Amino acid sequence: MITSEIKDKLIHIVGSENYQDSAASKLAYSYDATPQYQSMPAAIVAPRNKQEITAIVQLCNEHVIPIVPRGSGTNLCAGTCPTEGGIVLLFKHLNRMLEIDEDNLTITVQPGVITQEIIQAAEAKGLFYPPDPSSMKISTIGGNINENSGGLRGLKYGVTKDYVLGLEVVLPNGDIMRTGGKLAKDVAGYDFTHLLVGSEGTLGIITEAILKLVPMPASKKTMLALYQDMEAAAASVSEIIRQQMIPVTMEFLDQPTLQVVEDYAQIGLPTDVEAVLLIEQDGPNEIVEQDIKKMAAICEQKQAVSVRIAESAEEADKLRTARRSALSALARLHPTTILEDATVPRSAIAPMVKAINHIAEKYEVTICTFGHAGDGNLHPTCLTDSRNQEEMERVEQAFEEIFMKAVELGGTITGEHGVGMMKAPYLHLKLGKTGIEAMRAVKQALDPNQIMNPGKIFANDMRKRVVMNK
Ligand SMILES: Cc1cc2nc3c(=O)[nH]c(=O)nc-3n(C[C@H](O)[C@H](O)[C@H](O)COP(=O)(O)OP(=O)(O)OC[C@H]3O[C@@H](n4cnc5c(N)ncnc54)[C@H](O)[C@@H]3O)c2cc1C
Repeated sequence: MITSEIKDKLIHIVGSENYQDSAASKLAYSYDATPQYQSMPAAIVAPRNKQEITAIVQLCNEHVIPIVPRGSGTNLCAGTCPTEGGIVLLFKHLNRMLEIDEDNLTITVQPGVITQEIIQAAEAKGLFYPPDPSSMKISTIGGNINENSGGLRGLKYGVTKDYVLGLEVVLPNGDIMRTGGKLAKDVAGYDFTHLLVGSEGTLGIITEAILKLVPMPASKKTMLALYQDMEAAAASVSEIIRQQMIPVTMEFLDQPTLQVVEDYAQIGLPTDVEAVLLIEQDGPNEIVEQDIKKMAAICEQKQAVSVRIAESAEEADKLRTARRSALSALARLHPTTILEDATVPRSAIAPMVKAINHIAEKYEVTICTFGHAGDGNLHPTCLTDSRNQEEMERVEQAFEEIFMKAVELGGTITGEHGVGMMKAPYLHLKLGKTGIEAMRAVKQALDPNQIMNPGKIFANDMRKRVVMNK
């Protein structure tokens, strides 16, 4: 509850221009990119620096007011839905790139910097920041760090956690802690940097990050392999990895997704096949040429009906952009789009896709699947209508079964989108009671008043998709 006294104090800290509590602004920050979750905050606050963040956190901790840190709100797990009210904290003023250090190959940024700007700034110096979530044009690095986001280049280069070297964080009591640094090696105590990566705003507020850069690869090639049989596509993925080639990208789209993406992007993608793999390799010219040839041969051996190598950078870019637009393209079709990210070992891709199709049939729901095949990270995407309560219950059951299947195959309930509120009821499937209790102990130690993004990660009950507290 924000009393008028607390409101005055918040305004005193950030200035009246950085405090909003009109009905319109509360509504605008009551939801994020996740369908069907909504809850009103009491106010929206945009601090101008870390000292203001510290003062806000101290005030909120004293009065037990929830704080929901929010980047661009593109997360897909209801991670920035202000479930328990409180304040939504914005980083629009903390949006500077502080330094590119070419000696140490690092970039130091504030949390509100847009991901793509980091990639471009690195490129301008001939360097490379690989994590590239499809949302990179709008997502912030603070959001990427807190969700440990992945992208199309994850197979070869890893995900956000592999590039976070050091952090500055305002802890839930207002103290500022620095972790890691511009260091290739650092084993001084617990690895707090990587505890904070993926912590979904529940352990503190990131105010600065030191990220690793790598040299820009000299060249890149892109190819499309088309299949009439989804299992043949999956077999190609396994065989490429078995032959110890690690492409940058190995993306999978099923037929319905392909159709929708082509309708949307209109770049001449074939739509009369059952599955497509988009494969890319980068590195020294001769290695790229050699790998692409070898991978094309493997795809053909594994019954690809056609393999097409992009002839120009523009063509490759179109293919990549089309893949990145899969979610937006699918979202045009039905009133509600629910995208999940069940993840399995690469070797289990074919049984997982088969299981998804079977589960969709069983519950009579429409699910299209695409995703990062090389990472085993699939995005079964349900096209539905949240106004149809009966159908939504079937959707819920279908997803629960999909998560159970993923875990049964040695996988996980989320590969890159995080737990937030959406997956909290399923976390036990992956972690079990002991795992959840250990996580709760960490949360309790750092945030005894439970002010940081409450209601996320840990399920209070078996609450599932609900429109709440409107
Ligand atoms: C079209 C589309 C495509 C997407 N593609 C991908 C993809 O390819 N790969 C992928 O991994 N994800 C993807 N996502 C999901 C999403 O974009 C990512 O999770 C992204 O990292 C969120 O960034 P954001 O700035 O929007 O963060 P938000 O959604 O605002 O926040 C995400 C989490 O971070 C916390 N947070 C944000 N800033 C801070 C901070 N400074 N300190 C502490 N906590 C903070 C929030 O509380 C929340 O828990 C996609 C989403 C959409 C809509």
